[in-house]
Amino acid sequence: MNNIQAKDKQYVANTYNRFPVEIVTGKGSEVYDSEGNRYIDMGSGIGVTAFGIADDEWIAAVTAQLGRVQHMSNLYYTEPCARLAEMLCTRTGMSKVFFCNSGAEANECAIKVARKYAAEHKGADHYTIVTLENSFHGRTLTTLAATGQDHYHELFQPLTPGFVHAPANDFEGWRAVVESVKAAGVLLECVQGEGGVLTLEREFVEKVAAYAKEHDIVLMIDEVQTGNGRTGSLYAYMQYGIQPDVVSTAKGIGGGLPLGATLLSEKVQDVLGFGDHGSTFGGNPVACAGAISVIERLDDAFLQDVRRKSDFIRETLEGREGIRSVSGMGLMVGIETVAPAGDVVKACMARGVLCLTAKHKVRLLPALNIPDAVLTEAIDTVKAVCAELASHC
Ligand SMILES: *Cc1c(COP(=O)(O)O)cnc(C)c1O
Repeated sequence: MNNIQAKDKQYVANTYNRFPVEIVTGKGSEVYDSEGNRYIDMGSGIGVTAFGIADDEWIAAVTAQLGRVQHMSNLYYTEPCARLAEMLCTRTGMSKVFFCNSGAEANECAIKVARKYAAEHKGADHYTIVTLENSFHGRTLTTLAATGQDHYHELFQPLTPGFVHAPANDFEGWRAVVESVKAAGVLLECVQGEGGVLTLEREFVEKVAAYAKEHDIVLMIDEVQTGNGRTGSLYAYMQYGIQPDVVSTAKGIGGGLPLGATLLSEKVQDVLGFGDHGSTFGGNPVACAGAISVIERLDDAFLQDVRRKSDFIRETLEGREGIRSVSGMGLMVGIETVAPAGDVVKACMARGVLCLTAKHKVRLLPALNIPDAVLTEAIDTVKAVCAELASHC
């Protein structure tokens, strides 16, 4: 263990089971550790570095803003915040944006909007938020309550009340749960990321959206992981033909700086008024300048290329030895492997490819602009490792 690893173990809270690797530098989809080993980064900081490490355009946008003003309070206007909000609204048809710093906070804002909307339109007893079983919405006590996986809950009771979890891809089962409560809103991920890269069925999402509309329940889509080009469209909901009331996002939007956003449709744009919500760092001009450089590059041609890379990954891995199935959308890929996913990730790392897991699957979230040659090298490694480890199982 080197000095930095020892210091980190001693002084940083024990919440992460880190690999014994210290990343010191990188460019694009390639990173280097303190011993000079090269890795292909197939995790991009859990879907954060949308254009890879130390991307030139992103650096230029961020540093230009750093040299002007790095932070002002939200008592004043700054240009990047307004421009980014306009850009997001124009691209989605939403009406307003609240900026924060993380995915959990983006969901907190969404939940506050749904509760206030329902309280005003239906009464204060309509506060329950319906999420899905196996979902993941964050680590704050409220977003943990929203998260539909018991093992995250056990040690932290009592969580924020007013959350129930309904089955995914089973509309009748879902409806039974919704009708058992006084629902303010429904919150769901189109592809459950932490839950194992599980894609919701179109018919289920359509029925949920129609039900929510009919009953004036606020429809919230958690696009923290699926958003900002990750699934091959600007937001994943766009591939489901639905129009949400609220979209929360974070991870990739800032390209590597902490930024979260909650997009509000016309229906709910004015639910939050002065003093109802806020964030010291939310809408930080440097983070927003970086985000503008990310969002403005996610045009149709670029998104089509994301889908092409996705098809390549599927074609290369589906049906191969040691691989049971491939799931996900765009460059959000889950691989069910014959060997344990953790073993596959370790073996890939030893061969210079950094992958993630999601539950029992290997998960890939490469930078959206990963060059074809680098992607091919990484996928060939994953394919070879899956086959080799399976032959020992
Ligand atoms: C990562 C994630 C979150 C939490 O985001 P943080 O920035 O870690 O707070 C919420 N929802 C989904 C779907 C996520 O993938």
